[in-house]
Amino acid sequence: MKTIAIDGPSGAGKSAIAGALAKRLGYEYIDTGALYRTIAYIAVNEGEDLTTEELLSRVDDQFIDYKDGSVLLNGVALGDVIRTEAISQKTSQLSKEPAVRDYLLSLQRRLAEGGGVVMEGRDIGTVVLPAADVKFFLTASEEERARRRYEQRRAFGESVDLEKIKADIHARDERDKNREVAPLKQAADAILVDSTDMSEDEVLDTMASYVENDHVL
Ligand code: C5P
Repeated sequence: MKTIAIDGPSGAGKSAIAGALAKRLGYEYIDTGALYRTIAYIAVNEGEDLTTEELLSRVDDQFIDYKDGSVLLNGVALGDVIRTEAISQKTSQLSKEPAVRDYLLSLQRRLAEGGGVVMEGRDIGTVVLPAADVKFFLTASEEERARRRYEQRRAFGESVDLEKIKADIHARDERDKNREVAPLKQAADAILVDSTDMSEDEVLDTMASYVENDHVL
């Protein structure tokens, strides 16, 4: 049972691919962005301007766990309420705080204990699981990532503006790449997969072959 790390920028298709790869391998899929989003969700619900310390003490009063592909907050699965654009931006602001990252580090490592996991995020190969068996850095051009997100939102019946989506994705990536602690970057031993001109199935087959053949294609 291996431990697989997938990192990359927003909208590169990490969640879909990580979920599908986990299913194919019979592993568990762990979406660490959902854990960060849960902290942002709690912050927004508290509705006050809290310091990070105050926020984390409120978070501590609640129970965060992860099961079957979703975060449980006090035993209840959080659905799409953590996926709004407002929560996305708030999440990326809060995730630059070292105390917030520290808070989630041990939970993430505990979830990966024993292997058999595909863990996806921004700093999994570099910080959370530096000894992961296989590391991927999954990316695509900014244009293509914005286009995919646009199609996704439109399919949900939302009225969306491509230029606004592009600007949001750009802002979030810049913040994630330039933060001081655990910035988004490719680990030295990660396999780079650029999905700009690939279908989801092609990406999945490529990544699965790396895992099944112990990195050698
Ligand atoms: O992957 P997702 O878009 O759900 O992540 C939301 C935000 O959470 C990211 O923009 C990033 O700021 C933060 N994050 C992080 N480290 C991770 C996973 C997510 O900083 N391992």
